[in-house]
Amino acid sequence: MTDDVALVRARHVLTSGPAGEVRDGAVAIAGTRIAAVGPFAALRARYPAAPVTGDGTGILAPGFVSCHGHFTEALVSGIGETHTLWEWFVHVTGPLEPCVTREMALVGTLLRGAEMALSGVTTVADMMCIAPGAEPVTPGVVEGLDRLGLRGDVSYGAADDPNPRPLAQVVAEHEALAAAAARSRRSRFRVGLATVPTSSDELLTATAELVAAHGRFHVHLNEVREEVTQSRMTRGTTSIGHAARTGLLDAQVLAAHCVWLDDDDVALLRAHDVAVAHNPVSNMILASGVCPVPRLRREGVTVGLGVDGAASNDSQNMLETMKTAALLQKVHHLQARVLTARDVLEMATLGGARALGMADEIGSLEPGKAADLVLFLERSPSLANIHDPYQKLVYCASERDVARVWVDGGPVVADGRVLGVDIPALLPHARELAVKLATDAGLDSALVPG
Ligand SMILES: [Zn+2]
Repeated sequence: MTDDVALVRARHVLTSGPAGEVRDGAVAIAGTRIAAVGPFAALRARYPAAPVTGDGTGILAPGFVSCHGHFTEALVSGIGETHTLWEWFVHVTGPLEPCVTREMALVGTLLRGAEMALSGVTTVADMMCIAPGAEPVTPGVVEGLDRLGLRGDVSYGAADDPNPRPLAQVVAEHEALAAAAARSRRSRFRVGLATVPTSSDELLTATAELVAAHGRFHVHLNEVREEVTQSRMTRGTTSIGHAARTGLLDAQVLAAHCVWLDDDDVALLRAHDVAVAHNPVSNMILASGVCPVPRLRREGVTVGLGVDGAASNDSQNMLETMKTAALLQKVHHLQARVLTARDVLEMATLGGARALGMADEIGSLEPGKAADLVLFLERSPSLANIHDPYQKLVYCASERDVARVWVDGGPVVADGRVLGVDIPALLPHARELAVKLATDAGLDSALVPG
């Protein structure tokens, strides 16, 4: 039984589980699962013939979970920085959505999914926001994630206001994505909705029926102050309040942002056990505001971290997102202890797994869970002199320190390269598609600071 076991060794094993940190530790992988976690010497004695990855330096952590993003935007990063969210809808994502093809979805997912994997991400929650047409687009995301070997939680971010979209086409796009996920290696389907204010009553009702049938829901809620004001004026309550009374929160709900919350909103999040996907870089670029992360965590709301889309971050680097999450809260509260590196690592691992309703499978290094891991080796100046591995990981580590990433016990990144796609070979085609997309969408105006 022991001859198919492999060991991964590190100076600091940060489990995000009951074992906490294990010094000079190791994880034993049997097939797709974690068989054991403990001191390297003990596991070496238990599995004397097992091959060992890792030189005994560095940090081993659970693979990171990015709880929110949009591969829709994968080919248009680095534009539109002078817009706030609603301007950005008008100038960037609105024009983009009818122009994204399935091939663009695939190539964009390969590019940005690779960027995530290189920063230690093993699970990606994505919401593809496109205008549905005759041919479904969103299955391109599933194909891309499959090629990369990443775990996916995929949704289609439907909307029909102010741009009307036939409900039948919206439902067909959901169904095409659900079918693609059902056939995939590691993706699963979640019902999606872009936002409550950009949805007609008809779409909200139809979405609630889908949510009841599928049991999982992904949506943006209370992202900017304008959204709250509009929702109160048109529907008499906040997006969270309206989502609750429409039945949309009666499921396993993943809500992006939740920046502008009153006491009633927080009570609803708690009552419906809604998990929040916090996207600090996107909130900062779009000048949206500061999510009350410490309060939410204190009150028992599950909070995970997301990179958000490539047009509102604009990188897809989870390490950058982790560091920014801590720094934003510290400076906002003028309180250095308000969100620590340990808190942030929890949010990026077990918190993210909980936010997706997957904590039984992933998010911590524990026997029986899927072997999703990321190994950082001490091979650059960044990781020299590890005193506190949590702070070193969150504040100092970079992509160049990511030596290897595993999903289900199989490597997806090795020696700093993604294995599922030849990125240099992909780049010329990706550039062509990016130019075509920006041209078709007329995004030139978005490039000009206004
Ligand atoms: Zn988003």
